[in-house]
Amino acid sequence: MNKRKTREGELLNLKTTIKSAFSLVVPFILIILAYIFYTKTNTMSKPQLDIIELSPYAIFFIGAVISWKFNRSREFFILSVLALCLASITYLPGAFGKPTPIADIYSIVCLVIPINISVFSFLKERGILSLWGIIRIGVILSQVLFSYWLIQPDQLELLSLIYKGVLPVHLNSITPLSQVSIMFFLLTLLLLIFRQIKYRTSQDISFIGVLIALLYVLQHHSIPILYPIFFATSGMILITSIIQDSYSMAFSDELTGLPSRRALKQDMMKLGMNYVIAMLDIDFFKKFNDKYGHDTGDDVLKLVASTIKEVTGGGKAFRYGGEEFTILFPGKSINDVLPHLEELREKVSKKGFTLRGKGRANNSAKSRSQSSKSSKPIYITISIGVAQKSEKSKTPDSVMKSADTALYRAKKKGRNCVSK
Ligand code: GH3
Ligand code: MG
Ligand code: MG
Repeated sequence: MNKRKTREGELLNLKTTIKSAFSLVVPFILIILAYIFYTKTNTMSKPQLDIIELSPYAIFFIGAVISWKFNRSREFFILSVLALCLASITYLPGAFGKPTPIADIYSIVCLVIPINISVFSFLKERGILSLWGIIRIGVILSQVLFSYWLIQPDQLELLSLIYKGVLPVHLNSITPLSQVSIMFFLLTLLLLIFRQIKYRTSQDISFIGVLIALLYVLQHHSIPILYPIFFATSGMILITSIIQDSYSMAFSDELTGLPSRRALKQDMMKLGMNYVIAMLDIDFFKKFNDKYGHDTGDDVLKLVASTIKEVTGGGKAFRYGGEEFTILFPGKSINDVLPHLEELREKVSKKGFTLRGKGRANNSAKSRSQSSKSSKPIYITISIGVAQKSEKSKTPDSVMKSADTALYRAKKKGRNCVSK
């Protein structure tokens, strides 16, 4: 019986892991789909190919609107740069009456893309229509002017610098890209991979995906149809990442990483015939904040949340709000879950928290002296109230209310205990 419950808990965790792993591979799935789509293009009609050629601009436009609405300036600026690069490589060679060699535009685009992706992905999020945003628009426009000046016939010498060898090896047999451009691509890729490993953001994964998609198309520049397909794919990768992030922002709590109250409300609607709801509350947390400061309070909250997240017995934990948490146990009875809640309460109470000597809200002399001598761990306890679906409490809301009343009893009993 116990083994089965643990397995249910593991299954729940596995589901969450699969979900987050899926969001990491989405850009690469899109790239593979783009490649499969490309292999089908040789049988397509002219009007179909015309639509494909225009599709990236439609996607860039949609992406720009979405990133503007969601206040994601990095994606907005990268999308703008991609639109400008694609338009230059597609339309500039024959424009303005005097033909511009496509090779010149290509060599500039090969540099502009990795440089801009690295710059914009590393700059802080500062809005689009803010002063910072306008400066960034200015930077993009100056690149356009500078590039246009660079492709004029009398700047040939300067432009040829791009192809100057910087490495002791010759790469021209394997790639049409200049050594400088390859270096920028690889450097940006390494930086993004490093940052992804460190901070695990899906935004970095999307930038990595875009970089790889564009490196692929530039490497195969002699196949023109690849340009619209892979540029459109890059736009889709950025849009997907914005949507994924806003979805997870809406359903997960920023501080603790636990599913939020909104996710709780949704899961409560899915509860079936039998279930148990537990309400958890940190004991004397106000005092803790007063004594050690709000920042330390936040750290403790994260630590407690990470322990609560590991609840066994098929429970799923949520941050209800403040220092309160909820655990749902679908398909369970109180007697099934009591030992698991008891185990959780004990685990929290034994998990010591060591203060780091960092910024604290409370800067009084008293608290500073507390900080210097407090290398020994501080212990936190939680109280738990639990209720199950019954004749008396028929709906999830009423079961939750009963659990809340039970929590009140646990507090009255002296805290650090489970009450039903
Ligand atoms: P009790 O044992 O009766 O639960 O006492 P308590 O002090 O924990 O209860 P009370 O509801 O009076 O205070 C809760 C405190 O939790 C108030 C607030 O300072 C703190 N708190 C709520 N949310 C956060 C948060 O996100 N971060 C930090 N640091 N503190 C929080
Ligand atoms: Mg409370
Ligand atoms: Mg409390």
